[in-house]
Amino acid sequence: MSEGAGGHLRFLGEQLAAWRGAGTFQRLRVLESASAAESRFDGRDVINLASNNYLGLTTHPKLIEAAIDATRRYGAGSGAVRTISGTMRLHLELEERIARFKNVPACVVFQSGFAANAGTVSAILGPEDHIVSDALNHASIIDGCRLSRGKIHVFEHKDHAAAERILAGLASAPGRKLLITDGVFSMDGDIGPLPQLVAVAEKHGAIMMVDDAHSSGVLGRAGRGTVDHFGLDGRVDIQVGTLSKAIGVLGGYVCGSRDLIDFLYHRARPFLFSTSHPPSVAASCIAAFDVLEEEPERIENLWDNTRYFKHGLQSAGFDTGMSETPITPIMVGDAARAHAFSRELFEEGVFATGIGFPTVPEGKARIRTIMTATHTKLQLDRAVETLTRVARRMGILG
Ligand SMILES: *Cc1c(COP(=O)(O)O)cnc(C)c1O
Repeated sequence: MSEGAGGHLRFLGEQLAAWRGAGTFQRLRVLESASAAESRFDGRDVINLASNNYLGLTTHPKLIEAAIDATRRYGAGSGAVRTISGTMRLHLELEERIARFKNVPACVVFQSGFAANAGTVSAILGPEDHIVSDALNHASIIDGCRLSRGKIHVFEHKDHAAAERILAGLASAPGRKLLITDGVFSMDGDIGPLPQLVAVAEKHGAIMMVDDAHSSGVLGRAGRGTVDHFGLDGRVDIQVGTLSKAIGVLGGYVCGSRDLIDFLYHRARPFLFSTSHPPSVAASCIAAFDVLEEEPERIENLWDNTRYFKHGLQSAGFDTGMSETPITPIMVGDAARAHAFSRELFEEGVFATGIGFPTVPEGKARIRTIMTATHTKLQLDRAVETLTRVARRMGILG
C-alpha cells in the first residue's frame, strides 16, 4: 500500500491500529433499507434501537410526497447560499411555520442542528464575552463556544447552583454572558433544569439559550420542546432545534426575536457561506410540522413505548442511568465491552450503538437505545429478551 506523500500521515494509521487493538475501532454500519423500527443493515434485518427517528416520520407518505412534488417543481438543489440567490419561497415558508409552532417572532433554518449551534454562538459572542455551559452540552455548542473565542465556564452537569455561582462571580466583569444548556441530553436522555437556569439567567442578566434537538417533537404540547414543556414561553432568548431527528429530515433552526434572526442573516457563517437546503428538504419539513399537529397519537405512542421498554429493561436488571426520555442508555462502563455488547446484539437481531470516549467520559461507556413511536410491543419484547440473554452471556447482567 502507498504511504502517500512521504508518509506524513503515518501517525493516523498508528492511532487507528491502537484503536483496533483496544477494541474501540468502529466500522460504519450500512443501512440498506429506509430508517424504520426494523431496518436492514449490512445484510441483516434488525430491530433498530439506534435512530433518532422518534415519530417514524422518515417514511411518512406526506413527507415523501412533499419532497417529490417540490423536486418536480423547483429542482434538486437551491443553487446558492441563502444570502446570494439561494433563498427560496419554501425556505421562508418553513421558517414562518416553525416560528408559529414555537410561538416566537422569528426563525432561521440552517443546514443542520450542528451548524445552527456553532453558527449562532460564534456569531453573537466575541472574545470579551463569557459562556456558562453545562458539562454535557452537545459538541456543536462546544465548538460554537470555541469559535466565538469567548471565555468558557463549564458547570457540572445540571448543577444550576454552580451556574449561578459562576455568573455571580462575573457580575462586574465586562462583556456579555450566555447561559447555555441542552434541553434533553443526547447521551443520557435526562432533561435540563430549565426553570432554575432561566431564573438564574434572568437574575444575572445573561442571555439564555436552549438546544432542543432531542426534545423537538418529543416534549411539550405537540412536541414544541422543553420551553413549552416547562411553561417558559417568552423567557428563553434563543431556542435551537433540529429537523434531523423527530422531524425526520435534515436541518437545524434558531428561534427568537426578529432582531436575533436578522443579525444571524448577516453574521452566522454557515448561513453566509454554505448552500441552503434543496427544495425537497424544506417541503418535507413543512409537511412534518403538519403531521405533528394532525397526528398527536404519534407522540403518545412514543411515550407509551418509552415507558414499556424502560420498564422491561429495568425489570431485567439493567442500569438505565439518568434517562427520563425516549433516549435510554444501558450502562456498561468499559468502552471495549460496550462495543462488543453492541456487536453481539447485532448478530442476534438488535441494533443499539456502543458509545464510548470521547462521546461520553471514560468509564461511562454504554449502549444507547432510542425508542420510536413505530416500534411494536412484539419488537420491544424481542429486544428486551435479546438484550437480557446477550448481557447474561457476556456477564454484563449477573
Ligand atoms: C443531534 C444534535 C445536534 C445536531 O443536530 P443535527 O441536525 O444532526 O446536526 C445538536 N444538538 C444536540 C443536543 C443534538 O443531539
